[in-house]
Amino acid sequence: MTSMKPTLTLDMFLEEGAAFEAISEQRPAVGANAAMRRAIDALAIAEEALRDDCPHARGRAASPTREGVQAGASIDVVVIGAGQAGLSVGYHLKKRGIRFVILEGAGRVGDTWRKRWDSLRLFTPAWLDSLDGLPFPAPRDYFPTKDEMGDYLELYAKHFALPVRTGVRVESVSRENERYVVQTTGGVYEAAHVVVAMANYQRRKVPDFARQLRADIVQMHSLEYRNPSALRPGAVLIAGAGNSGAEIAIELARRGHEVIMAGRGTGNVPYDIHGFWARFCLMRLLLRVFFHRILTVRTPFGRKMRAKVLHQGTPLIRVKPKELAAAGVERASRVAGVREGLPVLDDGRVLDVANVVWCTGFERGFEFVKLPIFEADGEPRHDEGVAVGEPGFYFVGTHFLYAMSSSMIHGVGRDAERIARVIAARCKRASQSDIRAHAHAHGSPSPRDLSLENPPLGTS
Ligand SMILES: Cc1cc2nc3c(=O)[nH]c(=O)nc-3n(C[C@H](O)[C@H](O)[C@H](O)COP(=O)(O)OP(=O)(O)OC[C@H]3O[C@@H](n4cnc5c(N)ncnc54)[C@H](O)[C@@H]3O)c2cc1C
Repeated sequence: MTSMKPTLTLDMFLEEGAAFEAISEQRPAVGANAAMRRAIDALAIAEEALRDDCPHARGRAASPTREGVQAGASIDVVVIGAGQAGLSVGYHLKKRGIRFVILEGAGRVGDTWRKRWDSLRLFTPAWLDSLDGLPFPAPRDYFPTKDEMGDYLELYAKHFALPVRTGVRVESVSRENERYVVQTTGGVYEAAHVVVAMANYQRRKVPDFARQLRADIVQMHSLEYRNPSALRPGAVLIAGAGNSGAEIAIELARRGHEVIMAGRGTGNVPYDIHGFWARFCLMRLLLRVFFHRILTVRTPFGRKMRAKVLHQGTPLIRVKPKELAAAGVERASRVAGVREGLPVLDDGRVLDVANVVWCTGFERGFEFVKLPIFEADGEPRHDEGVAVGEPGFYFVGTHFLYAMSSSMIHGVGRDAERIARVIAARCKRASQSDIRAHAHAHGSPSPRDLSLENPPLGTS
């Protein structure tokens, strides 16, 4: 009885996914939202059944955002961030029966995706958008919208009852002897291990001279851009020629704005990601073979590329230069500064524009980590995610942590699993030395309970 109920949850979820697949094969234009909604509803119904019939499953089925470890608690692991990286770490820690909590600054799991611009679709098809243990509920070649990805992450946290505490922002992490002290907007946590689980895209990066732009010029970073309605009529400067810049530029040009996209080109993927060959083999070759297996810190070519990737933009993936040209987007050299309130390019040209969208990248936002583990350029010092010189500090999700795929949805699970394995081994060693110390002091084994707050997945 106990073991059948969680299967019911998964079966219902998968049935809904299959039903969606059947529907969307007939009507491919329909989004995955309806299927996702039905999957979430199915999950809620199954959870209801679990709560009613199976008291042992209560802990797993309860809302992850309402329950879990409270501030003030001492715990094995604090995971910071409940995006794909943090949830993946949570999944692998839970599988090993380790006590942990995931702290998330946003009000809702998946909000990082929901807050991206309205028309954004993932460049990875559904088969590359699944985290370990739960398939993305859409046909494999479907490109989800950003809201569908946000909903999938929320579903993932709920499905595995991961102990996420939303609305809790970490303000500082420091170490006192062998334990980490995590100060948050919701109180203090203490842990033997801390995982910073997030991509490098936490804060906008905008040049200082942006403040000198005329007040009537509407300016925003790509993190704030939602849709063309926020812009004034007239010309737009897109500062930055990476993926975000190219996608926003083409959207605005098609809405009738004169668009100038400034910045050095980053190259482009030489095929159409929606085309037959991409679906048939090129996406697999590029993302699963090249990005995941070849470009890693364990290959000479990977190490060479890592140095480049950390300091340059990635090539254009969906939008092609010829599409930008066809939409009327003008290319220009880098923005160098501001003259009399207007942006000026490094070839001296002054642009009389009504709007500027800064697609100039992001900062890591790791200032809350008060530990001596950063290089001069802000890059954390780590060995495949394990911080150098710290007894229990880790990173997951950052650019090229282990491979080019480390910050992508399909690549993060492998890193999360490796870090969970390291933590499990260190916890085991610590508990064995506890037992030895206790036995030495009292002549009997330690009562330390290891299994705890989060029963391993599949055991409840
Ligand atoms: C525009 C865009 C499109 C992308 N498209 C794709 C795609 O199609 N396919 C793909 O594989 N990858 C894509 N990526 C890359 C990557 O998958 C995403 O950036 C993804 O959001 C990274 O997930 P993450 O969990 O590592 O980090 P994040 O999504 O950034 O999650 C980190 C979480 O940590 C929280 N947090 C941050 N600081 C704190 C703190 N101090 N205290 C508590 N919580 C905190 C944040 O609120 C956030 O929820 C895209 C990236 C961008 C920018």
